[in-house]
Amino acid sequence: QCPWGAPNTTSISCSLADVMSEQLAKELQLEEENAAFPEVVAVAEGPFITGENIDTSSDLMLAQMLQMEFDREYDAQLRREEKKINGDSKVSISFENYRKVHPYDSDSSEDEVDWQDTRHDPYRADKPTTTPRRGFIGKGKDITTKHDEVVCGRKNTARMENFAPEFQVGDGIGMDLKLSNQVFNALKQHAYSEERRSARLHEKKEHSTAEKAVDPKTRLLLYKMVNAGMLETITGCISTGKESVVFHAYGGKSATEDKVIPPECAIKVFKTTLNEFKNRDKYIKDDYRFKDRFSKLNPRKIIRMWAEKEMHNLTRMQNAGIPCPQVVILKKHVLVMSFIGKDQIPAPKLKDVTLSSEDMKKAYYQTLNMMQQLYRECNLVHADLSEYNMLWHDGKVWLIDVSQSVEPTHPHGLEFLFRDCRNVAQFFQKGGVAEALNERELFNAVSGLNITADNEVDFQAEIEALEKMNEDHVQNHGKKLSMFSSDGDPPIYDE
Ligand code: ADP
Ligand code: MN
Repeated sequence: QCPWGAPNTTSISCSLADVMSEQLAKELQLEEENAAFPEVVAVAEGPFITGENIDTSSDLMLAQMLQMEFDREYDAQLRREEKKINGDSKVSISFENYRKVHPYDSDSSEDEVDWQDTRHDPYRADKPTTTPRRGFIGKGKDITTKHDEVVCGRKNTARMENFAPEFQVGDGIGMDLKLSNQVFNALKQHAYSEERRSARLHEKKEHSTAEKAVDPKTRLLLYKMVNAGMLETITGCISTGKESVVFHAYGGKSATEDKVIPPECAIKVFKTTLNEFKNRDKYIKDDYRFKDRFSKLNPRKIIRMWAEKEMHNLTRMQNAGIPCPQVVILKKHVLVMSFIGKDQIPAPKLKDVTLSSEDMKKAYYQTLNMMQQLYRECNLVHADLSEYNMLWHDGKVWLIDVSQSVEPTHPHGLEFLFRDCRNVAQFFQKGGVAEALNERELFNAVSGLNITADNEVDFQAEIEALEKMNEDHVQNHGKKLSMFSSDGDPPIYDE
């Protein structure tokens, strides 16, 4: 028995046909909407509909669906034309840039997204926490329906998080803000068109924004890391360099049990503008580890190799126990590592910190030891070592920025080492460390080679001769020397 009594059966004075057609139309519409936008319709359907929700949302969605349909057809036509023009020709032209539905919408291009976890596609709104099918929770006077204005408003606010990352929603998400369906739908519509506009402009934008921030593809990558819960929040930019932008982030939860994500992370984004990297070609082209792959790759992939190189080099250093950032994950040209510093404040570079003479001496011996370890245990030369790439944290020196590091037998490896030695020697000598070796002594101490020249010009000539010997060896034997031969183990310097 119904607790509210029997319903009033007042007869409706209109024809059966009218009722039928309207109901049918509504049913069909709801069905369609359900298929296309299940998460929003879940709010608008059902027995608790209030007058103001339905009209705006359904009109809007119909319009969006039509637009989407139109765009798809347009693209299909474009593809047909592309095919017709290209035929069997070896050289083909692409209409890619004229397409309306971009990967942002359809997620179809394999090059755009390699993030495995498709459940966390940021452009598909997560299902809102479900209100039970019957449409209400609670008992008696505490009953809450899914159309309760407050609940609904909060849900709408939370849903803003699903908008594209470049869409500024302010800090409403953090506040107890209640958005009416009408406002939410208007926002959603706007976010949607903004997203598409940015996707359409993406070629242009990628080049114009690379200077100040990151391009949309990188944002997508970062956004997905946050969405997957691997990163908690990305708080801001630590450094903008010529070749990279570094961000700070709070770590999240790891997908696998065995891996722990550090509480604070640094995200190094290698810039995808190519010109900056041109002059660094030599570091990677001649690195035998990457040699075979180099010729086959397009410039975009080469930039990813920088990130890959940094990852491998950091791992080697980590294994040798050298203080350096710990690799968390590599995604294309984005490298996530542990943050050296605390509470969002990065550790100062050695060039920016004033050390007591005692600490300075300590830093020197530690640097010397690290250079030796790097050379012998990691088989690496930093190749950009200076007070700019050494951080002072926890009373010791940390090495960073190793994307350009090479193995000693790299055709220019010893020259790079000599340059590193010059930077280090000069810094500590100027810093008042009386014990600091000069650049030539340091070079021998690190490499274990015994170059006796007592002036810089001769010393460098000998270095180059050694490098040439190595190259000749490669030419004649088809493989590199495993190591430069040295006369026994060099002395280990210590405090
Ligand atoms: P670049 O090639 O731009 O010099 P770096 O790797 O040196 O790139 O990073 C630039 C700056 O970002 C560094 O000087 C340092 O201040 C900061 N940084 C980089 N990685 C980290 C990290 N893991 N922890 C803290 N700060 C970092
Ligand atoms: Mn640097």
